Amino acid sequence: MSSDTQDMSTDSDETVGVGDSQPPENAAAATEIQDMTVDIDETVGDSQPPENAAAATEIQDMTVDGDETVGGGDSQPPEKNAAAPEIPEFRLNLTPDIEHLSDTYDDPQLEFSSLVLSSLEKYLPANLLTLNRDEKVKLLSKILRKYISRDELSRKKRLRNYRAKIISNYEPRWRGLYDIHPTFYFLRDFREAIREHTEEGYRRIMSEPFPGVFVFQMFRPDVLERLIQEVDHFKDWAKESKFQIMPPNNINSHGIVLADIGMDTMLQQLVEGFIFPICRVLFNDVCIGKFNSHHGFVVEYGMDAGFDIHMDDSEVTVNVCLGEQFEGGETYFRGVRCVKHVNTETLPEEMFECPHIAGQVMLHRGRHRNGSRATTMGYRANMILWCRSSFYREQQNYDKGYFDWCGQCVKEDKDNESTFVKCYTRILDAKRKEMISLESSKPKVDETQHNT
Ligand SMILES: [Zn+2]
Repeated sequence: MSSDTQDMSTDSDETVGVGDSQPPENAAAATEIQDMTVDIDETVGDSQPPENAAAATEIQDMTVDGDETVGGGDSQPPEKNAAAPEIPEFRLNLTPDIEHLSDTYDDPQLEFSSLVLSSLEKYLPANLLTLNRDEKVKLLSKILRKYISRDELSRKKRLRNYRAKIISNYEPRWRGLYDIHPTFYFLRDFREAIREHTEEGYRRIMSEPFPGVFVFQMFRPDVLERLIQEVDHFKDWAKESKFQIMPPNNINSHGIVLADIGMDTMLQQLVEGFIFPICRVLFNDVCIGKFNSHHGFVVEYGMDAGFDIHMDDSEVTVNVCLGEQFEGGETYFRGVRCVKHVNTETLPEEMFECPHIAGQVMLHRGRHRNGSRATTMGYRANMILWCRSSFYREQQNYDKGYFDWCGQCVKEDKDNESTFVKCYTRILDAKRKEMISLESSKPKVDETQHNT
């Protein structure tokens, strides 16, 4: 008990590593919680479909930024290229021309992926759609460069090459895992809860041991076993092929990113079809738009010292204990915080510790500050899935006030309210005393005068 209390007090003094659980190749993302618009670019890295959404959101940004002109506006005059035909000033359309058949931009030497370029092309004004392909590449790349840094681009290129090498050389052990077939993947009770899609139905299969932390069973045990085997199989392949595995982030050095081995489609199906519906009911405020990006990885914990308190780079985090025999490794929680209050103290009532049980899923907000206790014995593997919404993050940029899910916002609001009440009471008190003293200092009415 005493060591636990000591740990807790240490935690509350520590500053929270915001975004420190970022993939290392993703250095720019360390600032992403402070600068949410950067994250919109981040979504491009993880899976293909979000690229589309990200590009669309960038277009929204472009039209809002500056003086509402893009690639030729007053604030950023276009660079004239003597060799290329002059491109007139223009503004991207607010909505894409979905009938337009974009060019393909598969050339590996291009800075941006084909999907981003062809998605953006649909937003060009009609008179520019007739440009030849090379001119469009120049034009579209120039627009995109305003929003994505060179470092970011080279990181993405490295990641693309890394994944291409794996996809063309690695032979999966369990192909059935790479697509979600609900009856194979999920327990019957879970499937029924999804079908019912009511809060009551979800709560029937879940418990909420602490406000905002949900635990439940979802996956069939053999699926989780196979997932561990697939990860081991991949590691064996990497060892034999002398292939350097990129760790999932800068705090978990032992683990793999599931999208790297081709499991992105599975994760996409998992997020869209199963996690998002649950979150719409349990974390409704973050579900204003779909989760358009995710980062899923398997982390293995041998004997380790645990992980410091941090926030996940997610709106909602799904943490699945894949199993094996272990002791320790509990996840501890230290209050939900908005950007402004990341490093504020933990209130005693915000401290909670949740043990991992093989097969159990833990679901919580990414902004719920959390850390991990040391695994004191054995071996533990967890699949962690960060679900993100650039729509929600974008909205947060414009909504910097009070968040009812942030423990500190709520506390300050209560404090302000009680300060207001105290001040108001003091003023009323003073007024009352003043009135009493005025009353008592009034000359007494001479009763005899009445009689005259
Ligand atoms: Zn706050």
